[in-house]
Parts: sequence; structure tokens; C-alpha cells
Amino acid sequence: MLDIQKIRADFPILNEKVNGKPLVYFDNGATSQKPQVVIDAIAKYYQEINANIHRGVHTLSQLATDAYEIARGKVQNHINAKNAHEVLFTSGTTFGINLVANGFASILKPGDEVLVSHLEHHSNIVPWQMLCEKTGATLKVIPMDENGELIMSEYDKLLSNKTKIVTVNHISNALGIINPIKYMIDKAHEVGAAVLIDGAQAVPHLKPDVQDLDCDFYTFSGHKMCGPTGTGILYGKEAWLNKLPPYQGGGEMIKEVTFEKTTYAELPHKFEAGTPNIAGGIVLGTAIDYMNEVGFENIQQQELELLDYATERLSEIEGLRIYGNSAAKTSVVSFNIDGIHPYDIGTIIDKLGIAVRTGHHCAQPIMNFYEIPGTIRASFSFYNTKEEIDALVEAVKKAQLMLS
Ligand code: PMP
Repeated sequence: MLDIQKIRADFPILNEKVNGKPLVYFDNGATSQKPQVVIDAIAKYYQEINANIHRGVHTLSQLATDAYEIARGKVQNHINAKNAHEVLFTSGTTFGINLVANGFASILKPGDEVLVSHLEHHSNIVPWQMLCEKTGATLKVIPMDENGELIMSEYDKLLSNKTKIVTVNHISNALGIINPIKYMIDKAHEVGAAVLIDGAQAVPHLKPDVQDLDCDFYTFSGHKMCGPTGTGILYGKEAWLNKLPPYQGGGEMIKEVTFEKTTYAELPHKFEAGTPNIAGGIVLGTAIDYMNEVGFENIQQQELELLDYATERLSEIEGLRIYGNSAAKTSVVSFNIDGIHPYDIGTIIDKLGIAVRTGHHCAQPIMNFYEIPGTIRASFSFYNTKEEIDALVEAVKKAQLMLS
């Protein structure tokens, strides 16, 4: 059982006022808030060991390099990757997906198929469309049902020996649905397809085990799990990372450069051209330590309580519809109120200090499916409370009264 007040004291921003009201932060799906240890670790890096990595023999460069590689090891342990060199630092999920999609340009032929799901964030749709345009491959879509669940019988039918890669999110950002990725990975492997999992919305809530999942790639962003923006991870199985060409050329990713020919560095450096976000990578390690100290069992227990409570309380409101109804769901409630535009509700409740996201959540195909312009999305983190949910419910009721 978490001591929520103690946890909340770790996050200085939670004491801020917004529009003169105590901040109620329910936009955790967009980015999480940061604990003081993370904020301090950024300053500590710049105050004490700032230097470029993998370059100099001087002491600071060694210290920075060691700290960066220790952080890589923390990520490796966290996701249970077999090797540290299978863990690539990136700037975020978007970068990780683009890296893999770019690599598949050298593999796909006209007639090959790429499978995405109807539940994807735009960053797991657009890079694959660009890839298909480049290669003549075809993009196929795994359909969803009214509850927001992917239809597995349709997925099974879409798979064939033409399928070269299946790319799907672990948890949907717009609806909070947890997809049956273990089943999907096993099925894709039966036809010889690779699988990329977009874990952006999963890592704030759970600890993925990439070896147990047996996914070929798993990517996520640090900023959604208490870490700094501009940080992320792409895990790839060694064999795949050796097979894919580098994404960007530049310093640090080479073995030898001549004007005639360049040879590439070993993993992970082959995919880490240029000076990376050194502070960010190191502090992502701090964020992972922090979340593990809080404990993922505790995090899940608190978040599920918040989800149940919010679902129950919001359902009291007349004309309110929740999108995404599944037993496999994380702490996201995406909803609309009859006859009112989500943006209008969002704007009014912001004046009351409540931060939610309104709009299509970079998942327009889901909104098109439900034939709506967008939703109001309240996404909860372990540092949120039931009292804050009460404040949301009261604010939404007030907005409904004003707008109808
Ligand atoms: N996929 C999903 C499911 C997401 O929720 C997000 C962020 N909203 C992304 C990808 C993109 O992440 P980033 O902007 O950090 O690259």
C-alpha cells in the first residue's frame, strides 16, 4: 500500500496552483511529472561530470561515459534484455519506430505486407506508410471493435507469409486498452514476421519483459515514466540490429572512415550517431530506479483503484459515454458528453485547475471509427488521488451545466 502523501511530496509541481486553483494533473498519458530526485540528477550531471562520452581519455569524459553505460545497464535489467548492446538510446518512441521503419526499407519488396492496428498513435502509422510508399509494400490494418479491442480472429486472417512486420502498441494511448501482445507476437512469428511493440503507454504502468514477450523490437519514451523529455529506448534483438542498416550517419557510429568506404561500429554504437542526450540517458536510469523503489505492484494497485473509482464516478454524469471498455485496461478514462465538444469541457475545467487532454490524441483513426472529433482523456498516475477525481467530476458537472 502506497503512502500517497509521501509520494506526492516527491513531485514539487503537484504543489503548484494553476489559474489560482490547486493543480490536478490528469494528463499523465501525454507526459508524467518528475520527482525531485530526477530534477536533482539533471543538475548534478551538469554540475559535476558534464563531458562528451566515448571520446576523451580525460577523467570527466570517463565519468560521463561510465554513468551513461550504467544507465544502459539499468534499462537492460528493467526490461530484461539479454544484452546491454541490444538497448539503444533514442530521443523517444517516435525515433525508435522511425529507426526500425527506415531499416526495413532495405528488406521489403513490392507485395510484402506491414500490419498495423487501428489503435495506433500516429507515430506508429505514418513511418510505416512512408516505408510502404518507398518500397511498394502494402499497409494492412488490424481492426478494432466497439469496445476498443483489437479483433483477434481478423488478425489471424490477415497474417500470411507476405507479412514481414507487425507493429502494435502494448497499451493504447487514446483508450488505455491493453492489447494481447503475447498472443500477437507468437502468431506473427508463426508466419515468420518480425514484431515491434510500441511501449510508450505501457512503461509508466508495468515492467515489460522483452525476453518473455519474445518481441523483436520494443520502444518507449523516458518522459512518460518520470524521466526527462528527449529520452527513449529502442530494444532490438541482436540479430535484427545486426541485420538493419544504420539510421543516421555521423560521429561515434563508425569503425573506420575513408572516402572510398566506411565501416560501422559494433552495437549499440552503430545506431547512436552524434552526441546523444547524455544527461537525459543517465537520468532516465534515475527515473527507472525511482519507479522501482515505488514498486510496480504498488503503482498498479493504486492506478487500478483510481481507474475503477473514476469510471464509477464519471458514469454518474448523465449523457457521459466512456470509450474503451475492456477488462484489460490501464488508468485512462476517455469520454464525451452528449452534445458538447470535448474542447469546450477541457477549456472550462482548465480554469478550475484540472489538466486533461482533449482532442484526437494523435489517434485520428480511432476517432473516425467512433465518428467523433475527439474525446476528453483523463489519464491517472500513481501520485493521483480519489479526491482529485472528485474534483474532476465536480468540474465536469459544472462545465456541463454551463454548456448545455
Ligand atoms: N506511441 C504512443 C502509444 C504514445 O502514446 C506516444 C506519445 N503520446 C508515442 C507513441 C510517441 O511518443 P514520443 O512523442 O515520446 O516520441
